[in-house]
Amino acid sequence: MSTTVIKKICSVCGSADVIRDAIVAWSEPAQAWELVSVLDNGDCNACGNSGNSAIEDVEVDAITIHDSDCATHNEPAQPNGQCDCGFETRLIAKRSLLGR
Ligand SMILES: [Zn+2]
Ligand SMILES: [Zn+2]
Repeated sequence: MSTTVIKKICSVCGSADVIRDAIVAWSEPAQAWELVSVLDNGDCNACGNSGNSAIEDVEVDAITIHDSDCATHNEPAQPNGQCDCGFETRLIAKRSLLGR
């Protein structure tokens, strides 16, 4: 099973440890800060890259991988069952949307 997701990475070092500036407002009913707007400025926690083009989008395939002894691999001895391994989802870089 594979689905395509967008990953945000640093445009310099490729790390996914990136953050964006944002504006939040206090919501009294929710008793929490709620997002108002995401700003253009981004920062990379890994290399310190900062600015409006510090973060770029990459389209990746999210592929679910189960352990070889997971119940999803019971066939042909038994019918495949529910996952009992706590599967791992790996993100595999497909292509850069911004085409650096
Ligand atoms: Zn970086
Ligand atoms: Zn599993």
